[in-house]
Amino acid sequence: MIIKGVKGKLIKDSRGELTVEIFIRTNVGKFSSSAPNGKSKGKYEAKPYVKSINKDIESLEKLSDYFSDEHIEKFSDLRRIEDIVKGHIGANTLFALESAVLKAVSKEQKKEIWQLINPDAKSLPRLAGNSVGGGMHSLTAKKPDFQEFLLIPHSKSPKENQKTNLEAKEKIREFLKKKDSKFNDKKNDENAWMTALNEKEVLDILNELKIPAGIDVAASSFYKRKKYYYKNPPLDRNKEEQIMYLKNLIKNYNIFYIEDPFDEEDFESFAKLLKICPNSLIAGDDLTATNCKRVERAIEEKSINALIIKPNQNGSLIEVARVVEIAKNKGIKIIFSHRSGETKENILADLAFGFGADFIKCGITGKEREAKIDRLIEIEKKMRSVF
Ligand code: PEP
Ligand code: MG
Repeated sequence: MIIKGVKGKLIKDSRGELTVEIFIRTNVGKFSSSAPNGKSKGKYEAKPYVKSINKDIESLEKLSDYFSDEHIEKFSDLRRIEDIVKGHIGANTLFALESAVLKAVSKEQKKEIWQLINPDAKSLPRLAGNSVGGGMHSLTAKKPDFQEFLLIPHSKSPKENQKTNLEAKEKIREFLKKKDSKFNDKKNDENAWMTALNEKEVLDILNELKIPAGIDVAASSFYKRKKYYYKNPPLDRNKEEQIMYLKNLIKNYNIFYIEDPFDEEDFESFAKLLKICPNSLIAGDDLTATNCKRVERAIEEKSINALIIKPNQNGSLIEVARVVEIAKNKGIKIIFSHRSGETKENILADLAFGFGADFIKCGITGKEREAKIDRLIEIEKKMRSVF
């Protein structure tokens, strides 16, 4: 496949914020892809743009002619794209460019995108759907301090899991109507219910559903000067108190998955919690930022047994592949994840399936989230017709 021209444009994400869409003209047609935006971003994520979206687009368009010398035929050829653009564009622009390139290669090779990553991929990721939200993703004054309350149904079938999650989300709405006098059917950035209840009250509801539950504490967002400042109800916890509080929540509410339970600098507290709760998945997101060095450190220090992978935290899909390899070699469970500000791009499903992710976190409802789930269900359908 040969790239004959590259262009970029500004588009709005699901939150109404600006993000980048990249278009490529090739010998096999035109392709495009866009990148999402995070809000509760990790300190160690790669910069989305070198200076600004517009400057990134300008720099990329100037490089247009260089691409036409390269024949891109397989996933690892993305490295040659990266050699050309290195230093000129940020992680969001690079991710959108590489995604568009994979679409073109898959067309030319008559393969699915996931087949370019692993032609033998077989295992479908389990859905982790955000049902109730708080923290930085919810606008209400009174809200849970934790960012996400996830439903992670058992089945390996995305279609069945999505059905379970849709029904469960409706049941949660009924519970919220009864238990939260302020509840008014409003949804947050990720289309999860907004509520004035606190984390324990939300977990009480989730427990009624008998579906494995997960939480994204996103603890860096309320950690300041060595303490976790809770608002609902107002109280602060030091590191040790946070460990004990989370340990009790995991035990009392049978929490299967817990993401970013501590500040993004605190590898040690992650390790302490994992030691006490080895049967739950303790995942790094802001802690690890899809960055090889931070993932290696988290594994070395036994801080995690699960890892969030957000391709645009890094930008380079070659490095995403390395992060996956490092984690898999050590038996760390992998969760490919959307961002809170999403677009209708659905490549996340192909990446999750191709890279053999154990889970995919991409919400439950809303057209941007459903685009990824629908693509996964399409992959599932094809797999079932093959075997
Ligand atoms: C997250 O923290 O897992 C998340 C999806 O948030 P954001 O995209 O806002 O960083
Ligand atoms: Mg997170």
